[in-house]
Amino acid sequence: MIKRKRKEKDTKLSKEAYEIPARLRSIFDNIPNNIDILLFTNHDKNAPLCQATKKVLATFMQLSSKIILREFDISNRAAKRFNVEYTPALIFNPNRYKIRWYGAPIGEETRTLVEAFIMLGHGETHISQDSKKILERISMPRNIKAFVSPTCPYCPQQAVNALKAAIERPGIISLEIIDIQANPELAERYSAQSVPRVYADDTLIALGAQPEELFMLSLEKMEQQTIFIPESDAKEVDADLVIVGGGPAGLTAGIYGARSGLRTVIIEKDILGGQAANTPIVENYPGINQIGGKALADLMASHALEYVKIFLEEEVIEIKTGDKIRVTSNRRRFITRALLFATGAEYRRIDVPGESRLTGHGVSYCSTCDGPLFKGKKALMVGGGDSAVTEALHLHNLGVDVTIIHRRDRLRAQEHLVRSLSASGVSVIYNTEIKEIRGKDRVEEVELINNVTREKTTITLEGVFIAVGYNPVVDLAIKTGVEITPDGYIKHDEHHRTNIHGIYSAGDVEGGYKQIVTAAGHGSEAALAIFEDLVNPYWKKEGEK
Ligand code: NAP
Repeated sequence: MIKRKRKEKDTKLSKEAYEIPARLRSIFDNIPNNIDILLFTNHDKNAPLCQATKKVLATFMQLSSKIILREFDISNRAAKRFNVEYTPALIFNPNRYKIRWYGAPIGEETRTLVEAFIMLGHGETHISQDSKKILERISMPRNIKAFVSPTCPYCPQQAVNALKAAIERPGIISLEIIDIQANPELAERYSAQSVPRVYADDTLIALGAQPEELFMLSLEKMEQQTIFIPESDAKEVDADLVIVGGGPAGLTAGIYGARSGLRTVIIEKDILGGQAANTPIVENYPGINQIGGKALADLMASHALEYVKIFLEEEVIEIKTGDKIRVTSNRRRFITRALLFATGAEYRRIDVPGESRLTGHGVSYCSTCDGPLFKGKKALMVGGGDSAVTEALHLHNLGVDVTIIHRRDRLRAQEHLVRSLSASGVSVIYNTEIKEIRGKDRVEEVELINNVTREKTTITLEGVFIAVGYNPVVDLAIKTGVEITPDGYIKHDEHHRTNIHGIYSAGDVEGGYKQIVTAAGHGSEAALAIFEDLVNPYWKKEGEK
């Protein structure tokens, strides 16, 4: 019985072994273009890998006469001409592309080689229209280094993404696929202990395998992207509920609105997640002990995307109220029955000389974004609330030499955070304000003033982080005719209705506690209230119209 089973298995294997080359042959038979390969080998270093590479290439050359191989020893002057330092090295169609491979295309990497041959041979990558659009937006050259390993089953997906980018934009995108087993010194230099790992111009842009569009987006933005939202070509969108703002309030309202049966869309001009996305660590969102703000924002956005269409990096310019509300963005028009302002708040400035000029040159409002640049350097954190303390702790953990300066004699942050701060050893200078931030091209020093003694001091440093609260984003609401409270927030009733029929508000733009969880809660309340009002218009109930 066992013998029969083994025989069946052997027959199956030998059938597969026969079928795979046959299938490959049929694919390779139709290749229209020559695939020129330069192979650089070395008798001393990595000789077995050079041999293995030759064997793999020989197999494929039997499948297609279009694969044309030229082999050089590393001592040949061609190596110098093509700037090849490592072996084995493969260079593909050097007249047209800038694609090279350091290592042997063996193990899992054979899959990448097959894909490379098919794409180069046909001159086509079959990338999606969305990926194409993203690649077209890249205007500056990018040099990709994709670290892979023959034993990594996820690597071919990422290497193929990189190949697609380099084939689609040969004039601007170059690629090096680097096998970490064949090139331990390169792997060491880039700390590539885990693969796949992709760098663009020596900046880490992706860890792990990504879907094609996310890879292209990471390449465009030069940092790892976790959410891809397809662009829309629609000139006009008909909806029941348009939400302006994609922070926790807007995203939650989107989920609740759509689940109530309303055709709901979210328009966000900047990043999804609002302030939450810039918070280093969130420790008070129920159900999750500790999570990075960006990770939480991504979870919310992915959840919302299951229900609603999100128009990202799109700005609402004008809102015309009436029976139907007409919204104009910089890209299209929306016609809707209700609109929710979930526009949140933007960081406050301290308005001292040097602040604007040196923003981005040492002055920062986002420790999550810019903190790593200040590792081992001296920086101040201005503010005394939850943000200043959370962000100072984050900088301290990153290895920044950070000190808080606060204008009063005690912090206003939550007790739990204040305790963590004293345990960390980060010092606080009380009763002190910044008078001026100085520096030629970047922050060099600040002048401080003690607001009790009026004593002035100057300290040299590299960074000034500012976390002194937020101002509500209400310009568009004011332009639309929405009433604002004396504190500058949107005036609303307990159902989140504003003074204009059909227009509502939720989240930080309404004031209040400004927690992620309260914003989310108010987003859900507002969406439910909107649903009820659309089903049973309150203005009709109240006989107002
Ligand atoms: P905040 O609570 O309004 O605190 C702002 C701080 O900046 C205050 O200490 C304030 O001083 C100071 N300040 C304001 N203007 C200043 C100026 N021109 N110069 C110097 N200092 C100035 O703002 P936040 O810390 O950004 O927090 C905003 C909201 O988000 C809060 O409701 C907070 O609870 C919430 N949040 C929560 C968490 C968390 O739960 N982990 C994290 C971040 C934020 P005074 O004390 O003298 O007014």
